[in-house]
Amino acid sequence: MKKALFIGRFQPFHQGHLDALKQISESEVIIGIGSSQYSETDDNPLSFEERKKIIEEKLKNLNLNYKIIGIPDIHEETEWVDHVKKIVGNFDMVYTGNELVQTLFEQKGYVVHGIKKNIDISATEIRTEAKRLFEKLGKTKRTFSYCLGIAPITLEINRLKKKQNAIILAHSYQTTDIMYGVADFIGDSYGLAKIASQHDAQKIIFCSVHFMGETAKILNPEKEVFVPAVAGCSLAESITAEDVRNLKTRYPGIPVVTYVNTSAEVKAESDICCTSSNALKIIESLPDETIIFIPDILMGQNLQKQTKKKLILWNGTCIVHEQFDRQAVDNIRAQFPGTKILAHYECTSSVADAVDMVGSTGDMLKYVKENPAEHYMLITECGITDRVQTEFPDKHIVGSCQLCPYMKQIKLEDVLNALKSPKKEQIIELDKEILEKAKKSLDRMMEISTKAK
Ligand code: SF4
Repeated sequence: MKKALFIGRFQPFHQGHLDALKQISESEVIIGIGSSQYSETDDNPLSFEERKKIIEEKLKNLNLNYKIIGIPDIHEETEWVDHVKKIVGNFDMVYTGNELVQTLFEQKGYVVHGIKKNIDISATEIRTEAKRLFEKLGKTKRTFSYCLGIAPITLEINRLKKKQNAIILAHSYQTTDIMYGVADFIGDSYGLAKIASQHDAQKIIFCSVHFMGETAKILNPEKEVFVPAVAGCSLAESITAEDVRNLKTRYPGIPVVTYVNTSAEVKAESDICCTSSNALKIIESLPDETIIFIPDILMGQNLQKQTKKKLILWNGTCIVHEQFDRQAVDNIRAQFPGTKILAHYECTSSVADAVDMVGSTGDMLKYVKENPAEHYMLITECGITDRVQTEFPDKHIVGSCQLCPYMKQIKLEDVLNALKSPKKEQIIELDKEILEKAKKSLDRMMEISTKAK
């Protein structure tokens, strides 16, 4: 059984190190963490334990027989190799990316494999990036060591993005590493749809669920649109194009207003789309007294209370927002008087009846920004809570939020992959006829929504 010594400072351990480890063929690897000859000049040295934790995290899915050993510095080059040997025991060959270390082992007769770095990012750049990330992510309790761990990948994504004239759009329900690490724009579906159609970037990476990527493609057929992961949505999956055709047969002549959380095929069968920010405006702008509103029944019930028109509803729900109950709202009111409670349109009407404002995620952020109150309960997905804590650190959140399992499917690695070598399923491609028909219903929404302002 051959043993390899992989030695470095790992300040921090990054993708280049990981790729190097994958090149090692020996059956056992000792990862030797060199100590702190750099700590006096380094403004953010990681302790041995922190570096060990980062390495273990990165290696958890790698089938590698390894152990990690810390090697204190002795500041004496001639004795250094013997010193290392005393600490780590026997090994058959050495892998390192450091030229001096390579020379010292070779002088003692060891076979040394120089590791080729396949990413061109220095440790200094990583630490600078980690500081930038920590300024934002630290507000939602992410540690500096976590930021160091993700810094190489955010750096690489941001470099590639510039090189490829791409923009990254992130929905407010995304994780903070995506929103503040790599996104150019953060917003709700309407805000992001507008940016997608106005920005001159040729490539759009849409960090959100699949239908939002489709919406960006429909509005920008000539651009390349990618989604980092194929993430569904309970609302979008609740209705098909055939369901819409059946509704139209059952209610001839009644216009179909479709919430944007639907597939391109469903949009193509609709008269006009809407988002939670403009749904009421769209409904009111139509001359008809009866309207088919699909697919969110809870949102439809909330809108029904705000309009005199008759809404024919579909039975779709958002699995995140339907979970909130009235009791939680009443408890927060009793426990924290003066708290402003805001709910998304997709919540039940008993929740909506008890809150200070019902609206889209964009409406919620605007409310928090403009309201002097200190305490808020946000009845929606947790991403918005993270945004408020990051962007308005003086405001306090009470109560709990819910995670959307679809939105949270997207990871930084997926974003990198979409830029570097996108898989087929990450590329949004739509049938021409469906795209053109769906575009009409979105264009109509954009037109009315802009006019109504
Ligand atoms: S929060 Fe609800 S509506 Fe939004 S993506 Fe998740 S399941 Fe769909």
